[in-house]
Amino acid sequence: MIRARFSLRTSAAMLLLLGAVGCSAWRTVEVRDGWTLYGEKGQAVDAAAFRASFDPGYRAVERVFGPFSENVRVHAITSDKSAVEASMRDVRTIQEVPGIGRARVQAYHARGDGVFGPMTGIYADAPEPGTAVHELVHARIAEIAADLPLWLEEGLACFLGDGFLDGDEWIVDGYACWPVRELREQRLPDKELVRVLKLAAADEASVRENVLVHFIGWAIVFDLRQEAGTLDWKQWFARYKKGISVDEARLRIERTVSRDTEAAWLERLKSPDRRTRLATAKGLWKLRSRAAVESLLDAIDREDDAEVKVALAVNALAAGGDVKLTDDARDRFWPTVWPALRRGHLNDPAEQEALRGLYSSYRRRTQMSSQQALEGLRRYWAEE
Ligand SMILES: [Zn+2]
Repeated sequence: MIRARFSLRTSAAMLLLLGAVGCSAWRTVEVRDGWTLYGEKGQAVDAAAFRASFDPGYRAVERVFGPFSENVRVHAITSDKSAVEASMRDVRTIQEVPGIGRARVQAYHARGDGVFGPMTGIYADAPEPGTAVHELVHARIAEIAADLPLWLEEGLACFLGDGFLDGDEWIVDGYACWPVRELREQRLPDKELVRVLKLAAADEASVRENVLVHFIGWAIVFDLRQEAGTLDWKQWFARYKKGISVDEARLRIERTVSRDTEAAWLERLKSPDRRTRLATAKGLWKLRSRAAVESLLDAIDREDDAEVKVALAVNALAAGGDVKLTDDARDRFWPTVWPALRRGHLNDPAEQEALRGLYSSYRRRTQMSSQQALEGLRRYWAEE
């Protein structure tokens, strides 16, 4: 139905692979509290969009890991030329990742001195809030624990980078649907799992390994979080400094991607907190799971909040075409999803227009394609 713009983040590891770069001429666009936005000379930067993502992201990361000690440099990648100059050869291009599919590197965090590589900091193409949180986690971990196994760092970045931007607050969800699906579909051989678990930030890695270290790291961290009940990162830093056994990693990954964990997570659609419901709904389409679609339909029926209802309907719609439903679910799919879209109301005028466009595109009174309309509603479905 919709083709996802699969995105992922890379780490310092990929940078080294890309080789040395010339120093780009960065200009200061805006100084914020704790971070500074840089742009390429002569290129316009959407400072408001960066602010809207990085301010909440910065606060979210400090809430977990404590205050940053250094000002964070955030570099806006605005053109293919600047991407090349910043050594982001792989950024802005969609790559085929062996065994996984299409992925697009959207941002990365570099640890460097600007002499033999880029300046330390974040390099971002699209200022999506989840990406901002993810990269800011890398920036903060570089300050406090520079030599962690990469899976642990990526796992924390992915966990915290999964959420919903409610106004100016980042609501962490933590259940990332793309890795769930991928890790369910392929059982990695021991050899590959061992190699990925041993990666350090400075190691060279293939694009596939880079994607896998995000997925595997996330799945292990998610399970650790479930076990501890909190994001007990200090204890995990100490416990896994020297690594993790394959058996333990596999057990944790399997628990995370199990149907039981999915079912327990779907219960959060019943949370009394609307923001928890929003954050849970976002991205569920990507599971391609019958249980998720059925839970979304049930949730639409009982939902009173207009915005949450739209989020539920958009995710059901995005999943619908890819999931084989039971007869019962198929019969109630449109009668449930349609009214939620038609009567839906969003406070943001641009989002409201996209919502109208989405509804009309299916009614063939179309000003906008359903694809365009969905782009305008990204905040509700796009797990970056
Ligand atoms: Zn990362």
